[in-house]
Amino acid sequence: MSDTDLPDIHALHRQEQILDHIHESVITMDLAGFITSWNRGAEKLFGYSAAEAIGRNVLFLYADENDDDSSFEDAFLEHGGREMEVRRRRKNGEVFWASLQLSLLRDDDGEPAGLIGFLSDITERRNAAEMLRLHSRIFDASDEAIMITDAQERIVSVNPAFTRITGYSVPEVMGETPRKFSSGRHDAAFFAAMWKKLLETGYWQGEIWDRRKDGEIYPKWISIGSVRDASGEVTHYFSIFNDITDRKRAEGRIHHLAFFDALTGLPNRSLFNRLVDQSLIEAARTDLYGSLLFIDLNRFKPINDTLGHGVGDKVLQEIANRFRACLRGADVVCRLGGDEFVVALFDITSRDHAATVAQKLMTALDDPIIIDGRELKVGAAIGISVFPEDGTDTETLLRLADIAMYRAKQTGPDAFAFFSEEMNRRAVDRLTLESSLRRAIERNELLLHYQPKVRTVDGVVIGAEALVRWRHPERGMIPPGEFIPVAEETGLIVQIGNWVLEAACRQARQWKDAGLPVTRIAVNLSARDFSTGLPGRVGQLLARHELDAAWLELEITESMLMHNTDKVITMMDEIAALGVSLSLDDFGTGYSSLSYLKRFPIDTLKIDRSFVINIPGDSNDCAIAGAIISMAKQLKHNVIAEGVESADQLAFLTSLGCDEIQGYLFSPPLPAEKFEALLREGKTFSA
Ligand code: C2E
Ligand code: MG
Ligand code: MG
Repeated sequence: MSDTDLPDIHALHRQEQILDHIHESVITMDLAGFITSWNRGAEKLFGYSAAEAIGRNVLFLYADENDDDSSFEDAFLEHGGREMEVRRRRKNGEVFWASLQLSLLRDDDGEPAGLIGFLSDITERRNAAEMLRLHSRIFDASDEAIMITDAQERIVSVNPAFTRITGYSVPEVMGETPRKFSSGRHDAAFFAAMWKKLLETGYWQGEIWDRRKDGEIYPKWISIGSVRDASGEVTHYFSIFNDITDRKRAEGRIHHLAFFDALTGLPNRSLFNRLVDQSLIEAARTDLYGSLLFIDLNRFKPINDTLGHGVGDKVLQEIANRFRACLRGADVVCRLGGDEFVVALFDITSRDHAATVAQKLMTALDDPIIIDGRELKVGAAIGISVFPEDGTDTETLLRLADIAMYRAKQTGPDAFAFFSEEMNRRAVDRLTLESSLRRAIERNELLLHYQPKVRTVDGVVIGAEALVRWRHPERGMIPPGEFIPVAEETGLIVQIGNWVLEAACRQARQWKDAGLPVTRIAVNLSARDFSTGLPGRVGQLLARHELDAAWLELEITESMLMHNTDKVITMMDEIAALGVSLSLDDFGTGYSSLSYLKRFPIDTLKIDRSFVINIPGDSNDCAIAGAIISMAKQLKHNVIAEGVESADQLAFLTSLGCDEIQGYLFSPPLPAEKFEALLREGKTFSA
């Protein structure tokens, strides 16, 4: 509308129509504020029809009585136009925010004649702005750390809680990726799974260990979400997390209180029952024995009564530590209450092992316990029950161990007893055996017998296996099968092993000095002999006895190759480098595969007697013996069969190409003089 043309009636009408089409509400009024026109938009916005509105003062639309726009109007008149946000009321009473833009209408002379106002509802816009303000308040005030990254995982925003928890200030992390906080505790698979879930569902929640600025690693509970734009493209990721160090600590404490004895830190009865139940299920599937040792302290009560509970508590703690120290990791020890403890052993291959452990526990109490400068002595009575003989459930085993403990008390009081009489007898026998075995070495009761090894092609004796014997003063000759296991369990095997190596070399030296041909003397090693010091020891031994390495052979078993493979290979290489040959005893009873064996410098495979016994009658054993021989050939190993007793066995083994034979068919193990005589004769064997 121009100021110069006076609009005709049609033009006015047209203007009205145009105004009606404007979405916004358009209101005109005179300078006193009385409404002169009211378009459709105004009708929609306020709910009043034009007829209701025109002629009334615009004040009736104000939200509050005392809303005063006069200052605005003054300002407006001075500056000629302005936009502002105002509160207005609809016909239905609802108050809303509107943006108001006023323009001056002038008459033909250019004098102000009225006002035209454009109003639009900005409640939503204001709400959105309000929301943003609210969100940013929450963002800032939140106790939980919030971190926002862009789609490339570059950090674009973090809140104060983030700084508080991580130690990083805002500038330190802007543009960085969350990898900056990585603790290294989670592997690639963990993050792969997290991303998979996040990309599939837009959300991931879980526990992550991260690193603070000061280097400390801490657990946090974190929720990660992705934000996508309208086209589905990820624009941001946000994560919200809490430091859960304290919570975890508390959980740990609660768990500990429920399952552990507060005084000693050992499992309590309820955890013990669970652990044993579990192990019994496991043990039932395997052929292993289990055992419960019920321990009742002796002379503890007077300490508690006379010196007070404080001292008593310290004694119990010390005992718990000592018990734990003399058990293996897989063994369970628990305090049932008072001065009663119980130990559970699983994975034991021999029932007698329980007696060894009982002995160890009692020995652990030998040293006096020193508290506040006072030396205190306690002892223990231990009752033992054995799974599966005595019982197959925890309750029964515990009850029988308890009964056995009372019996031990009667004989002791510091003693142990099995529940079963048979086990008690065995335990006594073993103890006797062990103590006399200790003395056997110093009393010179051990000796070696030599069993010839014979070459199949010509029957020539090419060596002998040295087999230890124990000439017991009362019981006569004891075979190694009876005392070697006891020696292994008690550690005596180390001394015995040294003695055997020394004795075999001494004997070889004598034969050498006597002018006998070089004869390989094979010495059996136990797992404990086979330790890092061995190559050095063997080297020194040969040097000291001025023996060529060709005089010595070492027999080891497959099981010794199974652990610490690299270390074992190094050791075997060192032994082989000395010129000493190595043979693999009892071959076929372990799990060696062809490719596995290739890695070890072995000269000879020794087919175990168990496969020889039933050939040629048993086709399985024939097949196994055949397979071992052809495998040895492929690996370019020598092969020997042990325990050959019959001509049939010899014929079959020879036909397969077995290189050497050892067994009663030719000779039992012989005393040194007899074997020497045999060498001197140059006797050959033929079936
Ligand atoms: P091994 O090394 O497999 O020894 C072979 C065993 O088979 C010897 O029993 C030998 O007397 C026996 N034997 C030989 N030929 C025949 C036969 O034709 N028929 C039968 N039925 N048996 C035969 P021994 O001397 O009782 O030794 C048993 C095991 O004790 C040995 O098995 C070896 O593992 C161990 N052992 C013997 N001496 C020592 C030693 O000095 N140190 C170590 N660590 N272990 C030894
Ligand atoms: Mg052997
Ligand atoms: Mg053998």
